[in-house]
Amino acid sequence: MKNSFIISVFLFGILVQGQEKPMIQQEEIARIESVLASDKMEGRAIFTPGIDSASVFIENEFKKMNLPFFKELKNYRQEFVAQGKAANNVIGMLPGKSKPDEYVIFSAHYDHLGMKKNGEDKVFNGANDDASGTTAVIALAKYLKELNQNERTIIFVAFTGEEVGGFGSKYFSENMDAKKVVAMFNIEMIGTDSKWGKNSAYITGFEKSDFGTILQQNLKGSNFNFYPDPYPKQQLFYRSDNARLAALGVPAHTISTSKMDSEPNYHKLSDEVSSLDLANMTEIIKSIAISAQSIINGQDTPSRIK
Ligand SMILES: [Zn+2]
Repeated sequence: MKNSFIISVFLFGILVQGQEKPMIQQEEIARIESVLASDKMEGRAIFTPGIDSASVFIENEFKKMNLPFFKELKNYRQEFVAQGKAANNVIGMLPGKSKPDEYVIFSAHYDHLGMKKNGEDKVFNGANDDASGTTAVIALAKYLKELNQNERTIIFVAFTGEEVGGFGSKYFSENMDAKKVVAMFNIEMIGTDSKWGKNSAYITGFEKSDFGTILQQNLKGSNFNFYPDPYPKQQLFYRSDNARLAALGVPAHTISTSKMDSEPNYHKLSDEVSSLDLANMTEIIKSIAISAQSIINGQDTPSRIK
């Protein structure tokens, strides 16, 4: 009797231990990033077979996680016409437990510059710009699905057309009730170390809402820091996909590490996976998850942008 009791306690212990907390791991980040930035995707230019392969890859990642479709969509593609041609965003979501009508968005653009006409290396891989952000969105979707603690609805979006004027985020914002969006975490170029070195990133438009302050508060006690955008003259707040929703009052900001005054591979053929710091990038993605926690669980609501 006594022995079987001890064995039962032992087995129960194994069961409890087996339910591990979900984790964001570098191996997984490297896997996703390497596919998105591979030559096979041909630089992911809008309206090309290359970006279609990237779309299919992201859709399959969402499918593996069993993410529900967004609103009335029948699949993960949000299709529209731009310049007379078909284009699409990729969207998945996680319904909120107690506040399903309040949305938190994680986004990045999956398009890039495409290919050069000639030369030995023709492909603009866009490993940092913005396969890194897209990788973050996929990894965060997987993590937050497994964590299963979101009181608010979370929307994961990969935008097309950022590099040619923001077609994707324009269409998305026009077909979305902006009043329902509590916060938008747009992620752009997080694959290199920031000007402060590792374990840090910046937030564009920091002073326009208290979004950044909330994120900083959630990161207290970690070894990670989010700073206000150090390149205000570059107007980065207005130059990425957050801008469309910010114009509608949404606290929509971009998180980045890109050194805008000295990022040698920016919009170059050399923006390849080998130029990224994947360990640091993994830490940034983990930190975004931590920094978003009080917004996802409904405790904090960032102020609107005027
Ligand atoms: Zn970009």
